Amino acid sequence: MKNDIYEILKKPVRTLKGVGEARAKLFQRLNIYTVYDLITHFPREYEDRGKLKSIVELVDGEAQAFEGTIAAPVSESRLRRGLSVFKVSVRDESGTITATWFNQHYIKNVFKVGEKYIFYGKVSRKYKSFEIQSPVYEKHDKAEMKNTCRIVPVYPSTASLSQNIIRNCISSALESVLGSLEDILPQWVRNQYYLSEINYALEHIHFPKGEEDFKNARTRLVFEELLLLQLGLLSIKSSFIEVKKGILFRPVSDLQHFLDSLPFKLTNAQRRVLSEIEEDMESDRVMNRLVQGDVGSGKTAVAVLALFKAVKNGFQGTLMVPTEILAEQHFRTVKALLERFDIRVSLLTGSQTKKQKDEILEEIRSGKTDVVIGTHALIEDTVIFDRLGLVITDEQHRFGVRQRAALSKKGDNPDIIVMTATPIPRTLALILYGDLDISVIDELPPGRKPIETYAVDNSMRERVNQFIRTKVSEGRQVYIVCPLVEESEAIEAKSAVETSERIALHDFKDLQVALIHGKMKAKEKEAIMQGFIKGEVHILVSTTVIEVGVNVPNATVMVIENAERFGLAQLHQLRGRVGRGEHQSYCILYNEGNSKVSRERMKVMQKTNDGFVISEKDLELRGPGEFFGTRQHGIPELKIANLYRDLDILKQSQEAAGMILAKDRHLKQDENIKLKEKITERFKDKMNEISFN
Ligand code: ADP
Ligand code: MG
Repeated sequence: MKNDIYEILKKPVRTLKGVGEARAKLFQRLNIYTVYDLITHFPREYEDRGKLKSIVELVDGEAQAFEGTIAAPVSESRLRRGLSVFKVSVRDESGTITATWFNQHYIKNVFKVGEKYIFYGKVSRKYKSFEIQSPVYEKHDKAEMKNTCRIVPVYPSTASLSQNIIRNCISSALESVLGSLEDILPQWVRNQYYLSEINYALEHIHFPKGEEDFKNARTRLVFEELLLLQLGLLSIKSSFIEVKKGILFRPVSDLQHFLDSLPFKLTNAQRRVLSEIEEDMESDRVMNRLVQGDVGSGKTAVAVLALFKAVKNGFQGTLMVPTEILAEQHFRTVKALLERFDIRVSLLTGSQTKKQKDEILEEIRSGKTDVVIGTHALIEDTVIFDRLGLVITDEQHRFGVRQRAALSKKGDNPDIIVMTATPIPRTLALILYGDLDISVIDELPPGRKPIETYAVDNSMRERVNQFIRTKVSEGRQVYIVCPLVEESEAIEAKSAVETSERIALHDFKDLQVALIHGKMKAKEKEAIMQGFIKGEVHILVSTTVIEVGVNVPNATVMVIENAERFGLAQLHQLRGRVGRGEHQSYCILYNEGNSKVSRERMKVMQKTNDGFVISEKDLELRGPGEFFGTRQHGIPELKIANLYRDLDILKQSQEAAGMILAKDRHLKQDENIKLKEKITERFKDKMNEISFN
């Protein structure tokens, strides 16, 4: 019996009644291949067709259901060539309504006078005359009514796969499995969190009888999905698999000296976070700490202090960042700060020549260099450290779990700090960093003025240009960010190349305009950034290569073209490039989107400078799928859970995941075997080094 159900779930949808080759192809477009895929294709919403109204009660403009008798044969009238309308008059005791269809010739053969039907659709009512266009209908005496007379599921669909077809296929797939599905959740978990049983849950998520049913079914399925996710993620996080002994760093007396040498005094928040880090470093537990801080809160300084401590303890440290520009910038600042204390700093990026790289690799291997700053190039196998003790990743949201793990494997249980400036909504933080301790730098260095933000449209261009000229004449510098590198005909968005040409040759021909984008050679980029840092360039036209981390305090105006194309978190990051010095800074968002959502997003940007508020809003408005590419994190698409709304269930599932693994770390016990199978299956192509052994 047990095997039977597994076999059935794995069967291709083609084996179902009513599904041929063509339909199977359509289902594939929805990523549905097997019976299991089908029964876990969850409704996107529900229509309440359960309440039957009498015709006279029907309300104008609403989708409603009613029952009636066919009063007269179907009539056909030709409106013009190629357009026929079919009408049928339906009545009940209270009144009459006309149902109409366009060009549906088969309708003539459907309805017979005197038969009873249920109809569902949007009704229009003009005085006493009722009409309903292309309604859903079902014969009253049909043994099983799937499409009317109940709460009806509406599925994510694709053209030419009608709701009726999907619904009928799911219904027949469910028929073949309901009652024999085995629960993958251990009994105690279901008891403890009041979760319904799987057969019930699947039946009622598709065909709920009422609100209560639906809620129970959904909660259970969301819980399962999030639990699998948590278990999957936790199991690849090495820290969870072994409780490792870490390095015991000693306090460093020089640290105060170093602090005094900084050009500023740490903020209270920086000091608090530093002491949290020091405490971790001085314990023999492996540090796994996330440092969250809004753009400009001064995370780099904290990172440098930790690196200092590691090096003075005789270890090497490394700082990995997502872009070359950022790597070079950090390299310059960090080197300037540390060299005075006899600490050797190197830079490693993908675009260095082989000769340069080989030299640096040798210095890393021999231990001649103390601190290595670099990009993804750091993860490569050729990078071998002599005694790596501290691993820091900056702008963590750009890296996956896998990359973080790969870098720390280069040391012997090194301490780990991850830093992020994209404040992550609590739900996502719990998922992505569930195993990390979190420190928050919730204070900006003193004297920062909030950035003034304006959303404008093209009619304001001349005024904005005038404003830019004024600021440049006051000695300030300007960023103009465009969404695309080169102009494309398909998308009408400002391209950086085209914009820089236009403004260099036309709008600002008296000013120094430079262009920077990701497709340029690293050398070129570096030269241009240098020109901007030195103040030789007034206006830097750029793609999002400058999104993270770039620090030029004299730049005070950020203009973003086609702002509607960027996510809020990204806009916030971009805006964070200004407001870094003593001068009042401005952000101008050209919004060419007309939708309500895009207006709302611009409003959020104008109203708040708080990255946390913005990221919550972003997640709410765009959904987690688009909120920074989840694929990077190896998180499979969620089928039913909503990370914005299901925070409570998320917390419970996380707690459960912790308890399950605490009792059975390798998921080997009988009650957990099915969970393990599912996780392996779920994550296999997403995270190949997932391992329980
Ligand atoms: P982020 O957190 O965005 O990475 P940075 O570390 O780049 O921020 O710091 C932003 C700017 O603030 C830098 O110019 C840095 O020198 C400066 N800064 C950092 N900490 C302080 C402080 N305590 N007081 C004044 N300026 C600071
Ligand atoms: Mg930074």
